[in-house]
Amino acid sequence: TQDELVQAERLAAIGEMAAALAHGIRNPVAGIRLFAELARDDLEDRPQIASTMTDIIAESDRLEKRVRSMLDIARPLEVKVRADDLAAFLAGLVDEFRTRAPGRTAVDLVVDDGAGARLANVLFDARALGECIETVVVNAFEALEGKGRVSFRTSLDGFADGRPAALVTIADDGPGMDEATSRRVFELFFTTKRSGTGVGLAMTKRLIERQGGTIDVETASGRGTTFRIRLPLADDVRA
Ligand code: ADP
Ligand code: MG
Repeated sequence: TQDELVQAERLAAIGEMAAALAHGIRNPVAGIRLFAELARDDLEDRPQIASTMTDIIAESDRLEKRVRSMLDIARPLEVKVRADDLAAFLAGLVDEFRTRAPGRTAVDLVVDDGAGARLANVLFDARALGECIETVVVNAFEALEGKGRVSFRTSLDGFADGRPAALVTIADDGPGMDEATSRRVFELFFTTKRSGTGVGLAMTKRLIERQGGTIDVETASGRGTTFRIRLPLADDVRA
């Protein structure tokens, strides 16, 4: 217990340091970006230098994105679960994703008929779960590159130990991942994208586990990708 306390304190200190560092970097980066923009406006007759300014602006944006993800990691994971209607919550989210889906990306939702009543009584934190699903869906949109389908499905299922669970699957028919990639998707800072951060799924796993749930992935090259999120049911006393 002593070791765990020391470890927790150390993590909290690292979090505070990361936050201080992030805030300290943010303002100067915003300044660099602004001055590069002003300079670019004055360089209409010098296209080569103007294009260098555009590079500076793009790199500033990348740095800002990194810093934002550092703040995300530093932020304490405050999760408060309560019994809520998972089916209704998802229906609302899916409507929103539909309007945001880029290009010719379709988004659909199937709720398993027999599960209706019990899916109205699931333990989760709506803000945290919303963030997690957002991460998975944005990854799917990015993988689909403007064309394909993201399918949500909810049903009753179980955890590995047999306790009942609400199951949300989010599947895309994109390029999928090879074995080496899929093994690492939940690792902090693992990314295959040029301007990725590798923070999304690592945070998602931690947030889902804080809610008493689990997340896993099934995928193969050329076979699309399916994420499965399991959450405890409110009327399961052991939950
Ligand atoms: P980032 O999106 O910044 O790369 P994530 O943690 O969100 O970080 O994702 C980690 C990696 O997992 C991605 O870089 C990508 O290689 C892989 N990945 C996640 N979702 C999918 C998906 N739906 N299809 C293909 N690859 C995916
Ligand atoms: Mg991502």
